[in-house]
Amino acid sequence: MTQKSHITTSIKDFAYSLGFDLVGISPPNTYPDNEHYNEWLQKGFAGEMSYLKRNAFKKDDPNHVLPNIKSVITCALNYNTDKPYSTEANNNEKGWVARYAWGEDYHNVLGGMLEKLRAYIDTLFENEINTKAYVDTGPVLEKVHAKNSGVGWIGKNTCLINQEIGSWLFLGEVLTDVELEYDSQVADRCGSCTKCIDACPTDAITEPYVLDSRKCISYLTIELKGAIPDDLRDGMENNIFGCDICQDVCPWNKRAPITELLNFNAVDNFFNPDLKKLLQLDKEGFRELFKNSPIKRSKRRGFLRNVLVAAANSGEKSLVSAINDLLYDEEPLVRTHAVWALWKIEGERSLSKLNGLYDTESDEMVVKELENIFKTQER
Ligand code: SF4
Ligand code: SF4
Repeated sequence: MTQKSHITTSIKDFAYSLGFDLVGISPPNTYPDNEHYNEWLQKGFAGEMSYLKRNAFKKDDPNHVLPNIKSVITCALNYNTDKPYSTEANNNEKGWVARYAWGEDYHNVLGGMLEKLRAYIDTLFENEINTKAYVDTGPVLEKVHAKNSGVGWIGKNTCLINQEIGSWLFLGEVLTDVELEYDSQVADRCGSCTKCIDACPTDAITEPYVLDSRKCISYLTIELKGAIPDDLRDGMENNIFGCDICQDVCPWNKRAPITELLNFNAVDNFFNPDLKKLLQLDKEGFRELFKNSPIKRSKRRGFLRNVLVAAANSGEKSLVSAINDLLYDEEPLVRTHAVWALWKIEGERSLSKLNGLYDTESDEMVVKELENIFKTQER
């Protein structure tokens, strides 16, 4: 065994001992996938995620992230739990939170593990080398490196899929200026399947392997700051933070193993949560409930916006009183979606209540929503 091979094995063994499910190593090349990514950005498919456009030169050449970089070590962690898939849930009064957000914030869990791996590699070389670790946090195209290190293939739903584990994977990476043994890519096993494309309720997968984020429920419920576009609200169904549909239907997730890490087990309130209770969350309640969860990222106003869309889509009259209260919420975004939700559930009957409720000058956003509703109702 060569020295390089011996060190590579030690690093991988240590990563597995930390609890990672998959480890792969790729050279820091500029791959054809980099070009696809840049084309995707140019088409505007990233929507408002302007941070994705930052540091493009670093993503194209990791030498700008770590000078003289030789290896990218991709580590993947399975977060699948034993709860059912969204495609099996059918209670109208409940919302759906994406599987990745049921437990503890993965940045903390994965970040801690990667830091241990990084420190281990440093120690192996008596701190005479350079390393960096990232979980979503650096200018690194992690799916591209995961693919090129044989951790999995990028499926038609644009998720990274591993033949044994499926796609419920968190990814992180350690960059180093030590040359290690590289792994080979694995085959794309999507074949003629189109289940994810067919199941997407907002047609966000515009063609195999291409996602228009602007239509994707994950983007709409997590990244988008303003109002949900009218034509996409119905398609959001009961999804209130992220969306699992294109992964739930993927045959490679049918037998996905369950994670051994308790950190990702569903907090009761987050699994298929009660819409009524969520509609009643005030600022303090939101902060307290989601303090350790990725859901805090949407802020209360964005989250309640999503919950109101799900409430509207449920058509449940039992939610009307909670929606009514939000007509007076301090956030214009929340008032706007409350108006729409009430109209969706009560139809024309709601208009007498809503007509004249808001001031044209000071409540521009809500008034605009109401004007649209009146126009639609007249048609
Ligand atoms: S996450 Fe949901 S909305 Fe986005 S592509 Fe997948 S199925 Fe479509
Ligand atoms: S559902 Fe089918 S096409 Fe889509 S990612 Fe999975 S295997 Fe590929």
